Amino acid sequence: MKLYEYMGKDIFRREGIPVPRGKAFFSPAGVADFTAGLSSVVVKCQVLSGGRGKAGGIKFPGTPAEAEQYAGELLSTVIRDLPVEAVLVEEKIQINKEYYVAITVDGARRKPLVIASAHGGVDIEDAAEEHLVKLHVDVHAGLQPFFGREVARKMGLTGDEARQFAQMLVKLYHLFRKYDAELVEINPLVVSGSQLIAADAKITLDDEAAYRFPEWLPRVEERTEREQQAAEIGISFVELGGDIGVIANGAGITMATLDIIQHFGGSPRNFMDAGGGAGTEATAKALEILLSTNPKAILVNIFGGITRCDDVARAFAQVRETVGIAVPLVIRLVGTNEEAGVEILRQQGMTAYRTVQEAVARAVALAAGKEAV
Ligand code: GDP
Ligand code: MN
Repeated sequence: MKLYEYMGKDIFRREGIPVPRGKAFFSPAGVADFTAGLSSVVVKCQVLSGGRGKAGGIKFPGTPAEAEQYAGELLSTVIRDLPVEAVLVEEKIQINKEYYVAITVDGARRKPLVIASAHGGVDIEDAAEEHLVKLHVDVHAGLQPFFGREVARKMGLTGDEARQFAQMLVKLYHLFRKYDAELVEINPLVVSGSQLIAADAKITLDDEAAYRFPEWLPRVEERTEREQQAAEIGISFVELGGDIGVIANGAGITMATLDIIQHFGGSPRNFMDAGGGAGTEATAKALEILLSTNPKAILVNIFGGITRCDDVARAFAQVRETVGIAVPLVIRLVGTNEEAGVEILRQQGMTAYRTVQEAVARAVALAAGKEAV
């Protein structure tokens, strides 16, 4: 779950990491009043993407009236293909230097990894490797103050700045663990006068930790409506945008099916793991969701272990009778109760393929309009 900047800064504020004074607005009303007390102001669009500055999503108004006007403009635009639903209105801080700091999980080393740079700021992706400080954290020891000072020293920071940075890194790690974050990133971390301030905030939480922020959940939903519908009936479904609808039973076989479709020159419309023992009703529902995406063909890949092929065949036969399936349907069916399943399909005038290659090749040809149904 990715948090918006204003949510990330809310967490920073609670955990003692300095952030500019500011407030999130979902409509322009009240922006002028809020900024009346600030000497200068920045209005930042809230979208789950970086590079907002370069995309025109960050404005520096000269007057409170102008701040409200910019807020209104941003709230009715699309930045980097994302509609702007909120703006963060903040006191504009003076920026003397821009640093970069992040904590993420290094999956290969199975440890949190601190990445920091004194040569960073907005263009961190272009920063030379030798300008990046990377240090792994021992989860048992935690991130101790000496570790923070070590990072600061390697960045080339000295004196009070190094001291502030080390303290901030300890707090950043504390919240990284406390909220089950997968990433916390401050880019830029700015030197403003004599103070270090987080001018931006990017936090990604483990989805399983999302329950801690029930008030934010509706705002950070990234799934499509169909994906949510599928989740409600226990089916993992992700829309991808190609033209071959896919249903398979198990995450592994579904991923493999997507790869094989690509290999045969096709493009999958979705990922759909209909699960181990999906019954008739769930299969019908899954198929209904899939049909609503208007695929050019549907490929069903079932390797029956716990799943019984006759159950699957019955479900498809039933859906075809009751709902009707207007798109070409290609079914590969092997495993438990295979003979019974194939027979049920045959009675319905449907063929079952034995190998995944045959089935995928057929689905790809049908979707491309190269073979007749
Ligand atoms: P991003 O481009 O989406 O990562 O958005 P950021 O929040 O990182 O802002 C991009 C840039 O806008 C920063 O690097 C700054 O140059 C500028 N900016 C953002 N907030 C302020 C501010 O309070 N004061 C000043 N002077 N510049 C700011
Ligand atoms: Mn940024």
